[in-house]
Amino acid sequence: MKTRRTAVTDLYYFDKGICWLCQGPVDLELRGLDPRSSEIDHVIPVSTGGLDVWGNVSLSHRACNILKSDRAADQFTPAEYRANLERMVFRSTHPDLWLHMIICRRETELKEVSRELLGTRLEQKRLEEARLRADKPRLRSLQDQIDDLNVRARQAKAYIRMHRRAGRASSVPIRSRPASMLGYWCSYAWSRRAWLVTLYCVCFRSIGVVSLFLAEHIARSESDIVK
Ligand SMILES: [Zn+2]
Repeated sequence: MKTRRTAVTDLYYFDKGICWLCQGPVDLELRGLDPRSSEIDHVIPVSTGGLDVWGNVSLSHRACNILKSDRAADQFTPAEYRANLERMVFRSTHPDLWLHMIICRRETELKEVSRELLGTRLEQKRLEEARLRADKPRLRSLQDQIDDLNVRARQAKAYIRMHRRAGRASSVPIRSRPASMLGYWCSYAWSRRAWLVTLYCVCFRSIGVVSLFLAEHIARSESDIVK
């Protein structure tokens, strides 16, 4: 009874060592998972009713056999089979380089996707702008709103500046508003309390001076009366 390996050897000599899919030479010494190793390919796949007989088998590379799998042989041209073989050989002999290539391709894909997204966003912006330009009254009203807001912002800034100046020496926080005008004036006077003290002193000093003068005058007039 022939083993699979001896069957492959027989097939190798029968097919003159040529893979019938890629038309390339097969190395009989290579074994196992090497993509260039020899395999028996069923011309009509077993899964589609092909028989496991000599009339239905041909010598092929492992890679070519994998690519063909359950399909008919004319799904790919010999050049495509060859390209696949080269790719698989490269993948098996440079696994790290292969991984690197996959990652590079992934990055390229990501870049393309992001560029596409950016393009879409830019396009959206452009469309929006065009729409706004076409919608002139709305644009004008928006401009008016912006101007109004600018004016109000300027007014608010002036108001804040004024209040800050008024309340610079005040212990009353700028934002707390007095309940009445009396409260406002009280807080203002308190903020100028130095002047208040001065006024107070001047008033009472003058009262003292006047009262002393009056007292002296009264005493003098009394002594005149006594004389
Ligand atoms: Zn081949």
